Amino acid sequence: MLGLMQDWPLLIHKVIDYAASEHPGRAVVSRLTEGPLHRTTYAALRERALKVAKRLAQDGIRAGDRVATLAWNNHRHLEAWYGIAGIGAVYHTVNPRLFPEQILYIMNHAEDRILLLDLTFLPLVEKLAPQLPTVERFVVLTDAAHMPETSLRGAVAYEDWIGEVDADFRWAEVDERAAAGLCYTSGTTGEPKGVLYSHRSNVLHAMVTMTPDAFGLTARDIVLPVVPLFHANSWSLAFAAPMAGASLVMPGPKLDGPSIYELLESERVTMTAAVPTIWFALLQHMEATGSRLNHLQRVAIGGSACPPAVIDTFESKYGIRVIHAWGMTEMSPVGSLCAIKPEVVGGGPEAVRAIKATQGCAPFSVEWKITGDDGRRLPNDGRTFGRLKVRGAAVARRYYKREDEEILDAEGFFDTGDVATLDPNGYMRITDRSKDVIKSGGEWISSIDLENLAVGHPAVAEAAVIGIPHPKWDERPLLVVVAKPGTRPDKADVLEFLRPKIAKWWMPDDMVVVDEIPHTATGKILKTELRNRFKDYRLPTA
Ligand code: AMP
Repeated sequence: MLGLMQDWPLLIHKVIDYAASEHPGRAVVSRLTEGPLHRTTYAALRERALKVAKRLAQDGIRAGDRVATLAWNNHRHLEAWYGIAGIGAVYHTVNPRLFPEQILYIMNHAEDRILLLDLTFLPLVEKLAPQLPTVERFVVLTDAAHMPETSLRGAVAYEDWIGEVDADFRWAEVDERAAAGLCYTSGTTGEPKGVLYSHRSNVLHAMVTMTPDAFGLTARDIVLPVVPLFHANSWSLAFAAPMAGASLVMPGPKLDGPSIYELLESERVTMTAAVPTIWFALLQHMEATGSRLNHLQRVAIGGSACPPAVIDTFESKYGIRVIHAWGMTEMSPVGSLCAIKPEVVGGGPEAVRAIKATQGCAPFSVEWKITGDDGRRLPNDGRTFGRLKVRGAAVARRYYKREDEEILDAEGFFDTGDVATLDPNGYMRITDRSKDVIKSGGEWISSIDLENLAVGHPAVAEAAVIGIPHPKWDERPLLVVVAKPGTRPDKADVLEFLRPKIAKWWMPDDMVVVDEIPHTATGKILKTELRNRFKDYRLPTA
């Protein structure tokens, strides 16, 4: 027997309809690529999203077609998303930090018909355009006054493009399971794989991330997603903020410490989110200038493990709560968030501190398990490492155009490629990517644990640990560090700093100081390149 309740499909455009109707005047502030700050509201943003939809329909874009965006976080990018999904087409967010060959690969793979691009990327796209045969039209996210001369065929300024239509348009009524967004994983090996989000998965995911033990968004919040829209829906904030009626502040191209600080302070931001490298830069700026943040209440940190030293600085020194989160493109992306359950409060401040450094608990709609290489479940004892596998309402089932490839196990779980422990209270701790874990004498050493500890040393700005082949132990850890400005980390001193904090056999066999640690397009340490750089390196213990 079916229930007798209304069918109300979970569609993305209902999010912007809701924000425009119930929170119409709430501010949406953007740092424009052209320079100045721009202010609008959810009501106005929805009007313009409708124009985008109408214009796309006029240009012959149909349900299921892919429309690419190569853009920073700003109001035009956001309204374009709602407009694209609003006619049943698919917004395909292209990460501009990918290598040009990867951009060509994913855009040709997606067969994008239109590309909306920010001014910053015009020179790049002019070079790539001859190799993008499916793109019929280039729309530059600017107005006529800022539209440069360009060799792109049929290029038009976005404001002119939508200026030719009115907002008298009805959203398409699509199935809630219809594709809405496409985001390719920035895999460090192999070809990027397309994760195809549905309206339903995006809406459910946003509802989950709004909850109090997740991002805890309210209509009183002012949210600054530093995390780009092109990085898995800016961790859902593109949907969750309007759904909560929270104000949005978008940083455009200026992502350096001083610019983020200025925006957080001048716009009275209460909640923000980004990868650790952004926060290293912000904290360095605040330390150097002796400044404080007077409005910020919560900072979500994820994408890579957040070192406890960063959590401590935010919480103890500045009184800003850290929400350590983990996830991946295939999970829309949020898979876990660290909130304190009553079970751990009794353990005292040290226990709470240790819990805060974990990647946290599964929110509603995420199920997980850890298994050995043989696929058998391992105990949730907080000590045993295993492959972390997940299933849920916003987890990928297949990759785009690789539908014949099975990516789930017999129980329907997806292998995240991460190695983790799960404890009896449900806290998950990532110890490594499965390909980065260091195998020493048949046991596993967590490179993430060592990196987190090393950045607690006063002279270390960033740390990476890789396994170096060893004749006796198979692999042993090498610690690679970047110095804090004005310091010179001393090997003996850093190793002494680690010694009391770890098991003896986890101690790195050596340390080297480098000018820079390579990063992926989504800000993670690029271990493949680092391993390559040190492929001829011989440990002193070998
Ligand atoms: P992406 O799909 O580019 O978002 O990358 C997902 C991967 O980033 C995960 O599988 C993890 O390896 C890593 N990751 C994300 N968040 C965290 C975190 N909080 N701690 C450790 N690793 C993380």
